[in-house]
Order: sequence, then C-alpha cells, then structure tokens
Amino acid sequence: VQFQGVGFQLADCAVELAAARALTYQIAWEATRGLERKTLHAKASTVKLFASEVAGRVVDRAVQVLGGRGYMRENPVERLYRDLRVDRIWEGTSEIQRTVIVNELVKRGPDAVTAWPQ
Ligand SMILES: Cc1cc2nc3c(=O)[nH]c(=O)nc-3n(C[C@H](O)[C@H](O)[C@H](O)COP(=O)(O)OP(=O)(O)OC[C@H]3O[C@@H](n4cnc5c(N)ncnc54)[C@H](O)[C@@H]3O)c2cc1C
Repeated sequence: VQFQGVGFQLADCAVELAAARALTYQIAWEATRGLERKTLHAKASTVKLFASEVAGRVVDRAVQVLGGRGYMRENPVERLYRDLRVDRIWEGTSEIQRTVIVNELVKRGPDAVTAWPQ
C-alpha cells in the first residue's frame, strides 16, 4: 500500500475482522460445550454486537478510502454499506445486545461474559 494513511485503515480493518472472527469461533466452540442458556445468550450477544459494529466500521472505512467512487451505486462497496447497516438493527439492535450483556454482568459478574470456560 503506497499511502500510509490508507495502509493504517486497512490494518485496522484486518485486526477488527480477525478479532470478530476469533470471537465468533470462540463462542461457537463454547456453545458446543453446553453453556448455561442465559450465559450463552449473553455471549452470543457479545458476538452479534461486536461483529455487526466491526462490519459497519470496516465498510465505512472502505467507502472513505474510495471517496466519491465508494459512494456511487456503480461500486459494490456502496451496496455493502447499505446492506451492512441493518445488521446493527435486526435480530436485536446493538442497544438490546448491550442490555442483555449488562444484565449478565450484573447477575453473574464479568467472568460470566469474558472468561473462558474451565
Ligand atoms: C430489513 C428488515 C428485515 C426484518 N426482518 C424481520 C423478520 O424476518 N422477522 C422479524 O420478526 N423481524 C424482522 N425485522 C424486525 C427487526 O427485528 C426489528 O427492526 C428490530 O428488532 C428492532 O426493532 P424496531 O425496528 O421496532 O426498533 P425499536 O425497538 O423501535 O428501536 C428503535 C431504537 O431504540 C432503541 N431501543 C429500543 N428499546 C430500547 C431499550 N430498551 N433500551 C435502549 N435502546 C432501545 C433501539 O436500539 C433502536 O436504536 C426486520 C427488520 C428489518 C429492518
């Protein structure tokens, strides 16, 4: 990447996408181990919240890097930008995911959400 400013944005995208993928696989693995239902619910909320917000940030950077071309309908990024926006709304908005997570924090403590199962 020739321009450092663009490279930084790509690096941030790569790190956030890797983190979202890792969290998704981690919670999927925990689910196969038979977590208690409400704890699994909160952990699933962490994935839905984080992955949908990461997707929004990544596609927003893609539009910004491409400038006006990224905003035009001819460019696939414009479609992705619109399509990904709804992921923070459907299947429970980001605020509702946060509500589920904070309820679990209050009821069972931070380890219930953040720690790996024994
Ligand atoms: C394209 C599309 C397809 C859909 N498909 C389906 C489908 O197939 N089946 C289905 O059942 N539903 C479907 N939905 C509905 C979707 O699940 C709801 O849009 C979603 O749950 C949010 O509800 P709402 O739109 O009523 O927003 P609202 O509940 O009115 O929320 C509006 C805003 O207020 C915030 N908010 C609401 N309550 C709280 C609270 N207690 N604390 C803090 N903030 C709050 C929200 O986070 C949001 O930012 C679809 C929606 C869209 C856009």
